Amino acid sequence: MAIQRPKGTQDLLPGTIEQWQYLEETIRSVCREYGYEEIRTPMFEATELFQRGVGQTTDIVKKEMYTFQDKGDRSMTLRPEMTASVCRAYVEDKLYGQPQPMKLYYIGPMFRYERPQSGRFRQFHQFGIEVLGADQPIVDAEVISLVWNLYKRLGLIGLEVHVNSVGCPICRARHREQLQEFLAARKSKLCNDCQERFERNPLRILDCKNPSCQEETVGAPTTKDTLCEDCSTHFEKVLAILGRAGVVYRVNPRLVRGLDYYTKTAFEVMVEEIGAQSAICGGGRYDKLVEEIGGPPTPGIGFAMGIERVLAALQVQHKLPEEKPKLFAMLIAWGEQAQIEGFALLSALRSQGMPVGMDLLGRSLKNQLKSANRQGVRYALILGEEELARKVLVIRDLTLGEQMEVSLVDAVEEINKKYQRGV
Ligand SMILES: [Zn+2]
Ligand SMILES: [Zn+2]
Repeated sequence: MAIQRPKGTQDLLPGTIEQWQYLEETIRSVCREYGYEEIRTPMFEATELFQRGVGQTTDIVKKEMYTFQDKGDRSMTLRPEMTASVCRAYVEDKLYGQPQPMKLYYIGPMFRYERPQSGRFRQFHQFGIEVLGADQPIVDAEVISLVWNLYKRLGLIGLEVHVNSVGCPICRARHREQLQEFLAARKSKLCNDCQERFERNPLRILDCKNPSCQEETVGAPTTKDTLCEDCSTHFEKVLAILGRAGVVYRVNPRLVRGLDYYTKTAFEVMVEEIGAQSAICGGGRYDKLVEEIGGPPTPGIGFAMGIERVLAALQVQHKLPEEKPKLFAMLIAWGEQAQIEGFALLSALRSQGMPVGMDLLGRSLKNQLKSANRQGVRYALILGEEELARKVLVIRDLTLGEQMEVSLVDAVEEINKKYQRGV
């Protein structure tokens, strides 16, 4: 039996890869405009990094990590996300010694052992940014506005940012207490996961997707009621900057992130899809994370979005660009000498940046023309024994059905003129 790719992975083939390239190029240009630089870290890290940096109590760490012992008996894990890796690099490579803040972005594969029937991939791809070393509300607004403007640039409609403040360890302790008081009498009606969360992580009960948990938490105390003055001022400023910048947002008090190193702003970007809203980006502030993994106290904020998820949204909204012909011109050459001369001509064209091709299968003249038409190229460059003898090249415009003859000496210049006009 032929070997198959692992479950939950995909081959990205020509015909689809163009969509990925389009999305990645758009991401890169938006990041450039905002002054973010790319960071690439290893695909695998010491397991402990994710235990500390993602959190022992999260589903990711408890159930979904690709962990293995290497030949040196060290426990390694394929990265399930990248925030922890970026923070590790910030500390290890002493990025805190450079002008602050560090404004970083990444695009790459992540790995989680998901049940394949859930429609999720075990190797999936994320774009994300992390800003380290700045705690001002304007940073939170910049991060949210970057992803907002990316989605606008891509043409997505029906967007809304859900935003909340989860406070700091001081005010969160108060919220946690009030929440436990409120939920104590209802504990038995919560799902098993939430019963487990009750002691360790009661905030997460607020964003449980289980309908009965949602019902039991109606009217529960929100972070809004318990924010300290510092957290509440920070939140108000973020909202004011976002509003002035034209970002459509809604304060969603159920948006929480339960771990201690998450602080203040938490957000998700929602997109409207057939009758419902769903999240296509999530992020927030994590002022205690760098310390958690052993670095100096450093404020941080970031987000991650699934590439596959955003491509799906673009597909649903018909916002993916149409496929364009990959080549500008095809050489149609027959006769051995004409092929040798034609090949040299293509090299000259390619060295000036023009995407051009020729037949590589020894097809007949008629089939070469057919293939050029099928590929949608604009020009056929015709070179037979007879043209070669007269040192000329026929340039046929396949769209207009016109053709002209140029001397072989001038061919590169003539074709380049047409290329420059077309681009
Ligand atoms: Zn606070
Ligand atoms: Zn629940």
